[in-house]
Amino acid sequence: MLELRSLRAGYGRINVLWDISLAFPKGELTAIIGPNGAGKTTLFRALMGLIPHQGEILLDGKPLKGRTWDLIEAGLVMVPEGRMVFKDMSVEENLALGAYPRRCRADRARNLGRVYDLFPRLKERRAQLAGSLSGGEAQMLAMGRGLMSEPAILLIDEPSLGLAPVIVKEVFGIIRRLKSEGVTIGLIEQNTHIALSVADHIHLMRSGKLLLSRPADTIDLDHLHDLYLAREAAPPAS
Ligand code: ATP
Repeated sequence: MLELRSLRAGYGRINVLWDISLAFPKGELTAIIGPNGAGKTTLFRALMGLIPHQGEILLDGKPLKGRTWDLIEAGLVMVPEGRMVFKDMSVEENLALGAYPRRCRADRARNLGRVYDLFPRLKERRAQLAGSLSGGEAQMLAMGRGLMSEPAILLIDEPSLGLAPVIVKEVFGIIRRLKSEGVTIGLIEQNTHIALSVADHIHLMRSGKLLLSRPADTIDLDHLHDLYLAREAAPPAS
């Protein structure tokens, strides 16, 4: 389980996250939702050590420290917003980059087989340059690259961004399958309906604060939308 306690982070002198405490339980899908600028991506960046933070981050009860590379070795893996695949490299070369952590290098062939099993289209296109893929295929490649790192927790930042509804459905079909296979997932998603349909836990962020943290099956959608759209005042900080 990944746990954050009173996390604060921001950019230079500007603080964005205000005392965020939440958990990503093992084998479950935890979704972070919220409007533009809420701080969702900043949260993932802080978790991955890409920006400095205050507060504690624990993996299976042990404090996580070090630079991004150490965190990846510990099992934190992010699939970034906007895919960020290496366009001038082939699909398979991009996947090979995911196998770089020391702890999973030896299993590279097995993991590649698993990724191709999950994403047959990537197998068909394995020699093709990543820059020639469609948005949906590039999203699958970014997720496949993350899986090549054998994540203890896979942090996926807005996989639906810019994709046609039919492709979003396909991508979320894969996310559901990963969940059913026991992969621990942290998901940022702006589409509340999709997030609710797939998540075990929902955390709503607005202006760098957590406004609501609940099991997904106990959420009242109208209340959620009122908070999301700021039609209802945020509850006082506890
Ligand atoms: P979106 O869905 O639009 O990505 P978000 O909830 O992920 O929104 P963040 O991208 O984390 O929000 O942004 C939170 C705040 O931090 C915003 O006010 C944004 O302008 C600011 N911010 C984000 N990246 C930087 C940066 N590199 N430098 C300075 N400020 C930044």
